[in-house]
Amino acid sequence: MRRPVIAGNWKMNPTSARDARRLAAAVSGAASEVRGVTTVICPPTIWLGEVARVVADTSLHVGAQTMHFEERGAFTGETSPLMLEGLAEFVILGHSERRQYDGETDEGVGRKVASAVAHGLRPITAVGETAEERRSGATAIVIDRQVRAALSGLDRLEETGLVIAYEPVWAIGTGDAASGADAQAVAAQIRGIVRELDAAAADEIPIQYGGSVTGENAAEFFGQPDIDGALVGGASLKPDAFAAILDAAAAWAPAG
Ligand code: PEP
Repeated sequence: MRRPVIAGNWKMNPTSARDARRLAAAVSGAASEVRGVTTVICPPTIWLGEVARVVADTSLHVGAQTMHFEERGAFTGETSPLMLEGLAEFVILGHSERRQYDGETDEGVGRKVASAVAHGLRPITAVGETAEERRSGATAIVIDRQVRAALSGLDRLEETGLVIAYEPVWAIGTGDAASGADAQAVAAQIRGIVRELDAAAADEIPIQYGGSVTGENAAEFFGQPDIDGALVGGASLKPDAFAAILDAAAAWAPAG
């Protein structure tokens, strides 16, 4: 049985170290009673150290929101996987906002995923179609292309710590979440691709849904056979809302 992974993507929030520490403390308080769920918070890179210190003795895990695939060099403004050591266990890669605003390509995401795994980080690899791609019936083609490219630099998937997040772009930050059934259909497609690439990994890799997940709609996703958690944006900044999502995940988590 797969343990659900709930990851909070704080994006470019909060804007001060003090507020980042406060939010981390509030989330860790809200998460402390939750069993059977891997809970990750992903603050902006500049607050990773602050947040890692606040949650050091709690059950919370810390993730970065991106990284470069190279270890060092002339990459202004970038963060090396070596710099994340001791600060983050997870790293979100291929988020649609980075694909849209920072020119991330399928090929670049693949290099980052391989680099993250090589450096002992667990990539939360985001894939998803735009509204236009969905309208034109291209969802399955886009997912197939993005997943294969993201995993192309890995020679095996088993025991890599990989997490895949299905995040339809049209659902992110819009309040217009996918239906549980639609999200399940894509998650099943993703699991099928994983099975084809490395059968041993297919039942091990958590596949999340992301896109306007709230405490109210979370159970609809977690009840689906191929959905093992959520990547959460807006609601991850509100400890009560995030706690409600964690509770919904715990209700579906395997016992023990
Ligand atoms: C996200 O940023 O990955 C996301 C899913 O955002 P939201 O939950 O706000 O839709």
